[in-house]
Amino acid sequence: MKGFSTKAIHIGEIHLLDSVTTPIFQTSNFLMSAEKYESNDRNSYIYSRMSNPTVRMLEKKLAALCNGEDGVLLSSGMAAISCSLLSVLSENDKVIFSAELYGGTYAMIREVLSKFCIKCEFTPVDELNHRDFSDAKVVFVESLTNPLLKLADIDSLAKKAHEQGALLYVDNTFMSPYNFRPLKFGADVEIHSLTKYVGGHSDIILGFVTARHQKLIEKIWRQMYTFGANPNPFEAFLTARSVKTLSLRMTQHNKNAEIIVDFLLKHPKIKEVRYPSLQQNIPECYKDCPGFGGVIYIDLETTDNALRFASNLKLFRQATSLAGVESLVTIPCLTSHSALNDEELQKAHISKGGVRLSVGIEDVQDLLEDLSQALNKI
Ligand SMILES: *Cc1c(COP(=O)(O)O)cnc(C)c1O
Repeated sequence: MKGFSTKAIHIGEIHLLDSVTTPIFQTSNFLMSAEKYESNDRNSYIYSRMSNPTVRMLEKKLAALCNGEDGVLLSSGMAAISCSLLSVLSENDKVIFSAELYGGTYAMIREVLSKFCIKCEFTPVDELNHRDFSDAKVVFVESLTNPLLKLADIDSLAKKAHEQGALLYVDNTFMSPYNFRPLKFGADVEIHSLTKYVGGHSDIILGFVTARHQKLIEKIWRQMYTFGANPNPFEAFLTARSVKTLSLRMTQHNKNAEIIVDFLLKHPKIKEVRYPSLQQNIPECYKDCPGFGGVIYIDLETTDNALRFASNLKLFRQATSLAGVESLVTIPCLTSHSALNDEELQKAHISKGGVRLSVGIEDVQDLLEDLSQALNKI
């Protein structure tokens, strides 16, 4: 993928900052000066809740990967979503969300946005092209949805949002900045839960936001530190190490997933396999993607089958979360979507026998053998 590897991150200041190899928690280069204190810019390191050299190093690295001007690191993916929305919204503003959303985003809408009289509406991601955006301040989508893996047409949504005066926000967590870069296709804001592919080792919780305009980034930064949604520098340090292997890991996630999808498609016990590359009308903006990551959805018809399959897997461990180096399995109707009743599950097209696999970077032959023996037990 062009511009991804070392060249994009080893430029000028970023290369220098990359030499910060241990986390610095509280800096001490602040000279008593009212002028400096008041100016409070992101590079003066007055106080670590506002800015920190280790955090700044990672922000610059990630912004370069996403083709963004700069970025803001936050304590979690949810902090990234909340602060980036709240930084532009006021009472009576409207946000149009895709109906397919991460559970935590739904909870935040219910617990926060709705309480402050922000109007939130939902439209299935594949019907957003027919919706009017003219009265919305923000249109918010996930580039690749969970667990059904639908792709949002970022290119045309961005064009329409801009014609009608709205901003397009994209939660790009499931694609990772290696597989897809929404800003290149007109998105205004790109959000990542770094907890997933970028961190990649299931050992940190962090979020990141980048945007096309410096002004917006600055607003989100102010929201971040005012809220106290600041990231921990040690986690930033660990994540900076993860970034060095992101392309290797993503290449392996992509490759393993494609091989496993081929195997699953031919298996008689599986009613349906979902993976983005199997879709009929893949939006143009994904044409040059190196892959679609490690998440695969399969339908085994009944929850009983799904449970038997999941509990017989040996390499795929049963756990929430996804996108780490180790393979995981979950049953959406018993976990992420357990709050939905039968009718709502049906409306969301989530089968009671639905299983979500997050394929890691292990030897694919080992993974195939594991899947095969577990499928034989249902
Ligand atoms: C995990 C996830 C989040 C939330 O991230 P945290 O780091 O857990 O706060 C947001 N969006 C998507 C798509 C996710 O998968």
